[in-house]
Amino acid sequence: MSRPGAPGTQPGPERALPAPTEGGAPVPVGTPPAAPTDPGQALAELQAGNRRFVTGAPRHPNQDAGHRAAVADGQHPFAVIVGCSDSRLAAEIIFDRGLGDLFVVRTAGHTIGPEVLGSVEYAVTVLGTPLVVVLGHDSCGAVQAARTAAATGTRPVGHLCAVVDAVVPSLRRAAAEGVDDIDRIVDIHIAYTVEAMLGRSAVLAAEVAAGRCGVVGMSYRLAAGEARTVAAEPARAPAPAEPASAALA
Ligand SMILES: [Zn+2]
Repeated sequence: MSRPGAPGTQPGPERALPAPTEGGAPVPVGTPPAAPTDPGQALAELQAGNRRFVTGAPRHPNQDAGHRAAVADGQHPFAVIVGCSDSRLAAEIIFDRGLGDLFVVRTAGHTIGPEVLGSVEYAVTVLGTPLVVVLGHDSCGAVQAARTAAATGTRPVGHLCAVVDAVVPSLRRAAAEGVDDIDRIVDIHIAYTVEAMLGRSAVLAAEVAAGRCGVVGMSYRLAAGEARTVAAEPARAPAPAEPASAALA
């Protein structure tokens, strides 16, 4: 299973991002690219949008009134984002996308209950979305809360305990691997969520096995704005490009 530490999937140099071109020609500002139809194209599109966001050159595609009207009768999002609810992790902003592009499901710590899995299955099987992204981030409060609960032996009140309980397996994995750094634990939790999603959803696993869908884990850095890939299923299919020189933070 692909996760940090697994052969061939250890977080390494970030993948090079595709140049924002169409048929070799520069894409005019404000012109949205064609919607991706396979996992690799979808991941490349997200990475390209994130690069625009990081460098302060967003195009804000598909946010105009014309596009709003165009997608009113139906949606064909090219990626499902299962992200943490953190207010600094708005998917359409950090991937520089617009209306109809992303099918977003968010919970604290990107924990996955039945409703989350059902939403993912809907997007993949009914809407035909080719990519599922688990999106976590550094300094995640849900991971920190689980860590505090484990360290102190206390459980939070109310339904927050469900969030903490869902993160505990990732804490155990991190401990088994000798990982203590909170942001490395976050990456392990992202990879664990990718695994757990495929393990619990036979529908999603079948779509991945058939090559119709890919699942990746991405780890976002709050200050830098960069989202890097830390896990992928299948391990190689969604990876779109050449290794870049930039080392991972
Ligand atoms: Zn979080």
